[in-house]
Amino acid sequence: MEKLKGDVVVIGAGVTGTAVARELARYQVKVFLVEKYPDVACGCTKANTAIVHAGYDATPGTWKAKLNVRGAAVYPQICRELEVKFKPTGSLVVALAEDQVPHLYELLNRGYVNGVPDLKIIGREQLLAQEPYLNPKAVAALWAPTAGLVDPWGLAIAQAENAAENGVEVLLGALVEGLELKDGLVTAVRTPDAVIQTRYVVNAAGRYSDEIARMVGQDDFRIVPRKGEYYVFDKRFGYMAACPLFPVPTAISKGILVSPSVDGNLLIGPNAQDQEEKEDLDTTSVGLAEVLDEALDMMPDLPVRDAITNFAGLRAVARPSNDFVLGPAPGVPNFINAAGIQSPGLTSTPALAEMVRDFLQLAGLELKGKSKFNPYRQGIVTFCDKSREQQAELIEHNPRYGRIVCRCETVTEAEIVQALNRPVPCTTVDGVKRRTHAGMGRCQAGFCTPRVVEIMARELGLTWDEITKKGGASRLLLGQTKCSAAEKGAEKDA
Ligand SMILES: Cc1cc2nc3c(=O)[nH]c(=O)nc-3n(C[C@H](O)[C@H](O)[C@H](O)COP(=O)(O)OP(=O)(O)OC[C@H]3O[C@@H](n4cnc5c(N)ncnc54)[C@H](O)[C@@H]3O)c2cc1C
Repeated sequence: MEKLKGDVVVIGAGVTGTAVARELARYQVKVFLVEKYPDVACGCTKANTAIVHAGYDATPGTWKAKLNVRGAAVYPQICRELEVKFKPTGSLVVALAEDQVPHLYELLNRGYVNGVPDLKIIGREQLLAQEPYLNPKAVAALWAPTAGLVDPWGLAIAQAENAAENGVEVLLGALVEGLELKDGLVTAVRTPDAVIQTRYVVNAAGRYSDEIARMVGQDDFRIVPRKGEYYVFDKRFGYMAACPLFPVPTAISKGILVSPSVDGNLLIGPNAQDQEEKEDLDTTSVGLAEVLDEALDMMPDLPVRDAITNFAGLRAVARPSNDFVLGPAPGVPNFINAAGIQSPGLTSTPALAEMVRDFLQLAGLELKGKSKFNPYRQGIVTFCDKSREQQAELIEHNPRYGRIVCRCETVTEAEIVQALNRPVPCTTVDGVKRRTHAGMGRCQAGFCTPRVVEIMARELGLTWDEITKKGGASRLLLGQTKCSAAEKGAEKDA
């Protein structure tokens, strides 16, 4: 059992935990970021709508309302620093009937109270000029120019890498099994392989943040997973929506929307279904039918037969507050919650991280700035978005850029090799997919998986059958069915 010692342990490497870790990396403190999965961004962060919301939706006065607007404002800068894809598209809430128009004004007023800049109501003519594929029965919309699209797992990966480059120790595959307490303070974090003595703990464990809080005796909230299901359409149809198109919201969700993705796909979803099970990410025929039905109302010409995949995400809804659970646990001042981070959690991330930093300071953590903090992180040099001349230069410099591995997304061997040699280790096929997009296209990894596995085995020094999709028992290959002539000879000799 390894014995480690730090100032702060952040539990959970989703977009929240990685943002907190990066924020703390600015200061002279020893930070551990501890994640149970073999990669970052495997919880809520890997399956959501990926919208940077403007902030008109949340009830004024809530954490969600306060942090959304601040988060959206700093997104462009953070994404520039970390080389993460971000598109400032704006967003629309569309009234499809006259009786929905008063809801737009309600949202407009709520937006003013929350401090959302430049909101306005636009009429049918402008709306259909902006979004020609909308249902022509649309009557008006709320235009929110500060909304945008982001690559959510790309952001979490980039934050973790930047944190690691600035001294944070990232422990992957490290399930937090218990916390040690003494005299009303948490003193250590236990994983199967290590005990980390620490002065502070940040609980950013997403859907499991209630269970982590219970380890210090806090029992005043629980997390209810709320499923949301999606369709993803081929990139050929990304042009059909210029920005996220929301219906007027319901009591429990922002409604089923039609949206482009930051990579140019078209996306519809999510529905909202509360459930008990925290790992059930299965899509259902009933849920998908609901999604399709409502999205067709927004955009009747949706290319239904060109869906390339479906997926589901699980929101971490905190009961009873239905708000983010932020701040110290009652009676345990050095245990800081960043729990129940449901939507607009992705948007709020930068502001959440600042808030957690302030809570740590209030609890006595001294934060002296590091002179050498580097806020910049270089991403993987991608091939498909370069001009012909730039591509030729890349190939000349590194011939692996000349070998296309994923034909749908035009991902080269050079990019996959880079993904496997980053400051935070990438050891799974899904990890390669999230970093390079290999396997995210039309064929959904049908063609590129064997090549990806081959490159991973070579770079990681593993055999093919040791490579997993997402860690644990998720092996892709069970063994060899054919062998080379040389191997056959060796078998005969034996
Ligand atoms: C359907 C859906 C749509 C959404 N759409 C949007 C949107 O458009 N815009 C927006 O702003 N937000 C959106 N959100 C919300 C956003 O996705 C979340 O707020 C955000 O991803 C939460 O990140 P997190 O880091 O708090 O949680 P997670 O990403 O779940 O990370 C928590 C991490 O903690 C780890 N962990 C848990 N228990 C332990 C343990 N015992 N030991 C070690 N590690 C542990 C988990 O493995 C996980 O990696 C949406 C969410 C969903 C589900």
